[in-house]
Amino acid sequence: AKFSSNSKVKFFAPEMEAKEYRLLKLESDIHRAIKEKEFTVHYQPFVDLKRNKIIGAEALVRWQHPKDGIIYPDAFIEQVEQLGVIVELGEYVLLSACKQFSAWRKAGYDLEKLAVNVSTLQLQHPKFIERFRHILQYTKVPPNFVEVEITESVLVGNANKTVALFRELQAMGVKIAIDDFGTGYSSLSYLKQYPINILKIDKSFVSEIISASPNTGIVSAIIAMAKSLNLDIVAEGVENDWHVHFLKQKQVNIVQGYFYSRPLPPIQFEKILQQSNWN
Ligand code: C2E
Ligand code: CA
Ligand code: CA
Ligand code: CA
Repeated sequence: AKFSSNSKVKFFAPEMEAKEYRLLKLESDIHRAIKEKEFTVHYQPFVDLKRNKIIGAEALVRWQHPKDGIIYPDAFIEQVEQLGVIVELGEYVLLSACKQFSAWRKAGYDLEKLAVNVSTLQLQHPKFIERFRHILQYTKVPPNFVEVEITESVLVGNANKTVALFRELQAMGVKIAIDDFGTGYSSLSYLKQYPINILKIDKSFVSEIISASPNTGIVSAIIAMAKSLNLDIVAEGVENDWHVHFLKQKQVNIVQGYFYSRPLPPIQFEKILQQSNWN
């Protein structure tokens, strides 16, 4: 045999070797990608159903890989977090999105909502607030247009610290949105402890809005809960007429989803802004 008996290699099944190799490759790929600025930001519109117009966008990161083409965040965000480069990537996304948002407003587009995803590790970085403030000042984006989307996992950690962070962001004018609501471990009692502005209904619940679906009850319950806590609501994953109809009926007016548009590169996003019926 090629390997000695104490070699680690022989304990791995071939598919494990392949996986290990892929992870190692991914790690060096990510470091290069950060250095070479291979990450880009796409924008998915928020549509106001009442005013029938695009009022803003969620910034979603993509990796423009030189060999593999476009890679979606579910394939690399976790690894980016584990490698500790999420702080760098997150700042890059925030800066790009703020620059773009500012440019669109300068060009005359009436946008009032920019949402960025912030991972727990990023939020907890000691310099997060300082750098966030700096980026807003530098790009001249009015802080009250900016929303930080955070998942429920943040709420399970150190409450005092998180509350203080949320308050600092809110003191600047920035809003806090809870993303993927209903998929994690949080509950009503968690929600009540935190100063939150917006609740995003997860797409898994929205996608089950069909007549007589028991999950319509879940969506209704989430909406009722948000209302009782005085939170604004955004619905994601809106894919068809029936979703729109249902949400309108429930007075959920801010939505995003493939029914209106997929996340788009800036140039395409600007094209849909130009379509007169949206402005
Ligand atoms: P998310 O924040 O829940 O974003 C919504 C995801 O749903 C996006 O996937 C979006 O493309 C997709 N989506 C939008 N509309 C529809 C629809 O109608 N139907 C369906 N089935 N899906 C829809 P994406 O862009 O692949 O992002 C996946 C996740 O990666 C995001 O989920 C977010 O958690 C994370 N992510 C994206 N960008 C960033 C970032 O800059 N920083 C961090 N920390 N996480 C990010
Ligand atoms: Ca999000
Ligand atoms: Ca979500
Ligand atoms: Ca998600």
